[in-house]
Amino acid sequence: MDRENDAAVANAHFRQTLLAIRQVLGEKGSKDIYQSAKLDVKLAALPPDNLDRTFKAQDYAQLLHTIEVTYRERGPWILHRIGKESFHIVLRDQPSWMATAKRVMSLWSPDQRIEFMLEAIIDAQRKTYPQTEVWLEDKDGQLAYIEQSCLVCYGRQSQEPVCYLTTGFISEAINWATGKEFEVQETACTATGDAYCRFIVETAKHQSNVT
Ligand SMILES: [Zn+2]
Repeated sequence: MDRENDAAVANAHFRQTLLAIRQVLGEKGSKDIYQSAKLDVKLAALPPDNLDRTFKAQDYAQLLHTIEVTYRERGPWILHRIGKESFHIVLRDQPSWMATAKRVMSLWSPDQRIEFMLEAIIDAQRKTYPQTEVWLEDKDGQLAYIEQSCLVCYGRQSQEPVCYLTTGFISEAINWATGKEFEVQETACTATGDAYCRFIVETAKHQSNVT
């Protein structure tokens, strides 16, 4: 595995996250975070929408960690919201995929839709980061998304899982596809010393209004 490549973030990926941060924290809130993370110079302009890697994984993880620390007990919830917003930014960039996916899934069960969405996320991740190890786990009908070399918690050490951005992204993707509110839990995280980050999809809590 090429560690050099793993330790960098694709411009398009960083761009999506920055747009989502701005959406959730506002113009001033996001600028303050860039400054606290000492990334205001590097992030003076939005990265271009391409797969070049001009940012270090440390910068990306540092930015997210700064949000977590700055907002204290609300930090995880805010990062979760940024993850949800990131999913909508990805969707907006792919209107034809979105229309096709909705049509294809219309006759499927929620479980089939969840599997389809997790596979779509895995595909997208492999296209952006061909070196990365990412896969779907199906244990007795419980689906999990697993990612090695996670960039969200890159270089972090923590007592508990910290990839709130990813749980937000996955839960919003599943919510969009099923019209139901599923909870996503991170049950393993490289920040806590695990070999990978693992996100399981819990059963539906209740029906939401999304169609
Ligand atoms: Zn993690």
